[in-house]
Amino acid sequence: MVIISKNEKKDIPKYGGTQFRYGVIYLLITFAVLFFLNVYCSNTSQKLFYRSKQSSMQDKAQLVAYTISELDVVNADSVKNIVDQLENLTVTRLIVTNQSGLVLYDSLAKGSAYGVYTLYPEIVQALQGNDVFTWRYHDGVMESQAAAPILSYDTLAGAVYIMEYDSAQGQLIKSLQMNLLTITVVLELVLTLFSLAFSRAFSSRMRKIISSIQIIREGDYTHKVELHGTDELAVLGHQFNDLTDRLCVSENKRRQFVSDASHELKTPLASIKLLSDTILQNDMDIDTIREFVADIGDEADRLNRMSAKLLSLTRVNTDSEADCEIVYMRPTIARVVRMLSAIADHSAITIKTDIITDCSILIQEDDLYQIVFNLVENGIKYNIPGGKIYIELTRQEDNAVLTVRDTGVGIPEDSIEKIFERFYRVDKARARQTGGSGLGLAIVRDMVARNRGEIHVESQVGDHSGTTFTLVFPVFDVEEDEP
Ligand code: ATP
Ligand code: MG
Repeated sequence: MVIISKNEKKDIPKYGGTQFRYGVIYLLITFAVLFFLNVYCSNTSQKLFYRSKQSSMQDKAQLVAYTISELDVVNADSVKNIVDQLENLTVTRLIVTNQSGLVLYDSLAKGSAYGVYTLYPEIVQALQGNDVFTWRYHDGVMESQAAAPILSYDTLAGAVYIMEYDSAQGQLIKSLQMNLLTITVVLELVLTLFSLAFSRAFSSRMRKIISSIQIIREGDYTHKVELHGTDELAVLGHQFNDLTDRLCVSENKRRQFVSDASHELKTPLASIKLLSDTILQNDMDIDTIREFVADIGDEADRLNRMSAKLLSLTRVNTDSEADCEIVYMRPTIARVVRMLSAIADHSAITIKTDIITDCSILIQEDDLYQIVFNLVENGIKYNIPGGKIYIELTRQEDNAVLTVRDTGVGIPEDSIEKIFERFYRVDKARARQTGGSGLGLAIVRDMVARNRGEIHVESQVGDHSGTTFTLVFPVFDVEEDEP
């Protein structure tokens, strides 16, 4: 048996326990997922804005370029006239250059580039015949630029450059990103709370089981784990309670056995003490002393028998896997009858044996001997002078059926159930006379069960019909070799 001392008791760690570990893992996973969703949504929305802006800006630049390309003469005045007609062109800045980059028109009044050569990269690229669009988003303002070449009869006549600051759409992107961030933070908070609640609920159930194990380890076998539900932990709790119920039953049986055994051993010891004190304290003649010493010897014999039976009872309980062999029942029954015939003769009891069919069964030979011995011994002890015992062995289908019937005093109906209990005796005074300890039938019951058999009892008190014990064992046929 392993004894665990109290200081070996391990406390559940606060960090590193299941609750903490599951909580952290859960939070890291949800954080990663939410972060990815946030970045993905933000990028996608920016891309959508970029596409729509690109097409609208390039359309505007191309419209201006196309309108100018229709002019016969491209100079500052003609360009200004045309641009003034394009009323719907809402841009922050519009620049028109000739084919060498000289600015013919600039919508900006202050800081105008009119009359100078520009080196804006967009204009340079447009003068090489390309449509250009660039885009920059910064802190709620969207700055987009587009440039397009002016082609007049397939020859490059100049370039159009437009630029737009769009704070309305920029704010839209900004608020979208803020909303996404807020949703992410709120979701993460909610998930943190949920994960805390779930992991706390889970680990509190685990803690319940662990603390129950600690309580039971300290000896309180009546303690129960209270876990509701149908999940694995609840099933574990139920199984655990079943286990402690069994422990409780076997612990109670053990305590009962120890207290019964010590009580029973006390009686002959008390008699021995009483008898020896009487001898020492009184002047007695030698014959009386002999009588007393003989009584002491009887009590010592009783103690001896009882301790032998207790030993054999513990052997039945521990030796359950001992080897069985195929045993023919007739020789064992004959051996028991031989052993007990002297005692039977002493009480003028006749033992009649009728073996109709000898049967072979799978059993430990010593067990079979003990079983039959105890039953026949009881038949003698609880019989009347001149009474009879009938031992009969038959085969019924695949079973060997052994009956031990006596014509004795019988067992009262309310005791029939109890006679297989340890230390139970119907008539204690008579049992003391006969030296009975109340262990014989308990040993028989355990041995029969261990050898896959059954035992039944029928009895009547008073009319000499006595008691019949019926033993049933499955037959184990031995195949005879052909001669
Ligand atoms: P032990 O067998 O340990 O020496 P015991 O005979 O008293 O003692 P059991 O064999 O267990 O104990 O029997 C229990 C009780 O059942 C007996 O004390 C007796 O009262 C009753 N009993 C058993 N067999 C018979 C029987 N054949 N006829 C009448 N009573 C019986
Ligand atoms: Mg007995």
